[in-house]
Parts: sequence; C-alpha cells; structure tokens
Amino acid sequence: MKRAVILSTGDELTTGKVIDTNAAVIGERLYGAGFPVAAVLKTGDDRPMLLWALDQARQLGDVIIGSGGLGPTTDDLTAAVVAEFVGRPLIRNAAVEEALRQRYLSRGLALKENSLKQALFPEGAEIIPNPLGTAPGFRLSVGPGKDLLWLSGVPQEMTAMLDETVMPWVMAQHAGAAIVSSTFKIHGLTESELDDLLRPLALPANGRFSFRAHFPDLTLRLTFTGALPETRIYFRDQVRRLLGPAIYAEEDITMEECVGRLLLEKGLTLALAESCTGGLISRRITRIAGSSRYYCGGAVTYANQAKIDFLGVRPETLENHGAVSEATALEMSHGIKHRTGANVGFSVTGIAGPSGGSPDKPVGTVWMSIAHPSRHEARLFRFSGDRERIILGASQAGLNWLRSALLH
Ligand code: ATP
Ligand code: MG
Repeated sequence: MKRAVILSTGDELTTGKVIDTNAAVIGERLYGAGFPVAAVLKTGDDRPMLLWALDQARQLGDVIIGSGGLGPTTDDLTAAVVAEFVGRPLIRNAAVEEALRQRYLSRGLALKENSLKQALFPEGAEIIPNPLGTAPGFRLSVGPGKDLLWLSGVPQEMTAMLDETVMPWVMAQHAGAAIVSSTFKIHGLTESELDDLLRPLALPANGRFSFRAHFPDLTLRLTFTGALPETRIYFRDQVRRLLGPAIYAEEDITMEECVGRLLLEKGLTLALAESCTGGLISRRITRIAGSSRYYCGGAVTYANQAKIDFLGVRPETLENHGAVSEATALEMSHGIKHRTGANVGFSVTGIAGPSGGSPDKPVGTVWMSIAHPSRHEARLFRFSGDRERIILGASQAGLNWLRSALLH
C-alpha cells in the first residue's frame, strides 16, 4: 500500500513560534481520502536538516507533500535544496517569471532580483499553481514511483493548492488501487470500547479501521484498497450489526448537522432552554448555515429566577424538586416550546461541577426533557470528567437524544 510523508519547514515551526497547521490540514485531507501517512517531519530553515528530512521521507513514503520556504527571502531554501537532493540544476521557468512580472507591474512595484528567485525550480519540476499568492509550488519525481509535491507555507495558499491541484492528483494517481472508505460517526462509546467491539471482525489484509477522536466527536473509518464490492459491503454490514445504535451517521457530519437535517426533513422547529450547558447547544445548532429555517431560539436560564421568569417554571417545582430534577426539566421544555411557538422544546439542567454535587445528585447529573408535538418526556443522564467535559458531553448526548426522538 502506498504511503505519504508530510514535511514542514521553517524556523518558526521548530522554535514554537508558529503551530504546524499545514501538516494537520494535509494529514486530514489524506486521512479523508483513505491515504495512509507514514510520518510527519519538521525541520528548520536549514540545508543539511532539510536534505536529511527529504532523504527520510523518500525512504518512508511514495508521496511526499511539503510546505514552506518557497518565498523570495534568503531563508527560503526549498527549491535549491530539493535541486541538490535530486542532483539537478535550478531552471528558470519563463511562464512563472512572466506572471511574477505582471503581478508586480499591476501593483506598480519593480521586480527585484530576489523576487525572481521564486521562478526557479529544480529541472523537470511541474508547476503547481498558487491561486492566492506569488510563489507557485512544484511536483517532482524523486525516484521510481516516488513523487515530491511542494506547496507555499502560507496556510491559506497551501490549502488552496492542496485542494485544487494536489489532492485531485493524489486521487488520480491511486485510482488504480481503488481506495474506498466507509465513515461511521459514533456516539456513546469511547475509542477503546469501540476497539473492543470491533475486535471480532477479522479484516482482510487490504482493509483497515482508523479512529479519529475529538471529544465528544468520534469517527470510525473503514478503508479498503482494491477490495471487491461484496467484501466491502459484508464488512460494512458487520460494523452496522456490531455497533447498532451507536452509529448516528454514515457520512462525515456532526451531530448538530444531523439534527438540523432531521428538523428540516420533518418540517419542525426547535427551541432550547439551557441551564448547565450555558447556550452551547444553541451555539452548536446556529453554527450551521441555514439553521434559521428550523431554530427559533432559546434561553440560557441559569438562576432559578430566570427559569421562573423566562420559562414559567413554577416556584413550587423548584422548591420541592430542585433545579436539577425531572419535574424542572419537563417544565423548562414545555415553557420554551410554549413561549417561542416552536414545535419541539428541549431543555437541559444539570450539575457541571466541580462543586454543587450531593450524594443523590452528584456532579455530572443532568436532566433533559423533550416537549415534542405528541410526547413530553424527561431523561436522566450521568456524565463524568471535569466541568468542560461534562458540559460538552451533555451537549452531545442532548443532541443525540433529540436526533433519535426526531426519527421516531
Ligand atoms: P512566502 O512566499 O510568504 O515566503 P513560503 O512558501 O516561503 O511563503 P514560509 O516563508 O515558510 O513560506 O512561510 C510563510 C508563512 O506561512 C509564515 O507566516 C509562516 O509562519 C507560515 N507557515 C509556514 N509553514 C507553516 C506551517 N507548516 N503551518 C502553519 N503556518 C506555516
Ligand atoms: Mg518565506
């Protein structure tokens, strides 16, 4: 199986001045395409180290994607070092030079000699256009079946070059191997629980599971290289059977996108009454463009008085049962539904900690309620971890409950 190596250069990266987001973006795109990454290497603007990294990358991978050091300044060494690495001269590319001249001219600037440096490429290199900047990148064969693709260091430019030229090229090169992956978005399992559940599945050598955990989001990907459709379908179905309702989507979408789609599909509107999540669920819902079509609004009712004033929760309910209770959650969802005119009201009230817990209501106790056109119910959840984790976990579990309630 072919593998990639990601190479980042720049003193700013090795000294911690700048975070290597380029490697993260490239890694994410390759992962999404089911293309394995053997290693990510990082060096400063340093000729011997760059030569070392190029050599390592060529040994480890078939496709090397690098960024940085293509500009006009003296610390921009990439083209010259790559030329040295492959033992070829630097050649001036007339078309790039002309484009540079035009660009400077159109801004009323004189083209300096060092700017022309950006038109120099190792002999045999193919230009990778830079739609957003002056310095284009290049692709060069660095050995049998080994390609080096080098992009601008500027993150926006790098991303544009990656998406417009590099990824289509990578995909076309490896179309012969027919890499196909299935994505499963998971809720309610940890990475290790997921791993345990999948263990009985003996994947063939050309199949691979990969996990991406970014709490509370967990993505499972099943990738096959050159497998028969029957094989892929068989294993996809096995994953569905083993994980069942823990799978909330079979494409790379978030829980809030899933909920949004369902609301649209059913023609329903939503309103939220949030206490311990402090508006996080509302924030997640409204991050999605077009959410105004199904989201009415919400109230962050933190204090008891706010629950009374904004949602119409009865003072007796709060007195007799407490703010974190089934009765309060039910009145909150009813109140927000009624007061906004939404079809569905949803409420969350809980103890995020670290203080405020009691033996019968420990930190992490969260009541939620859905006031649906035809049902009105509440559910108790228990979360663990620090405050931030409880809040995030509650937002995810709440959205997931909403999702399943909308399905039925
Ligand atoms: P330029 O033409 O601007 O000189 P370049 O290809 O020479 O571009 P660099 O000079 O290495 O690239 O970096 C340009 C900018 O991009 C700098 O602000 C740098 O901090 C940033 N940058 C470079 N590499 C990375 C990276 N791997 N991740 C995030 N930012 C980066
Ligand atoms: Mg530079």
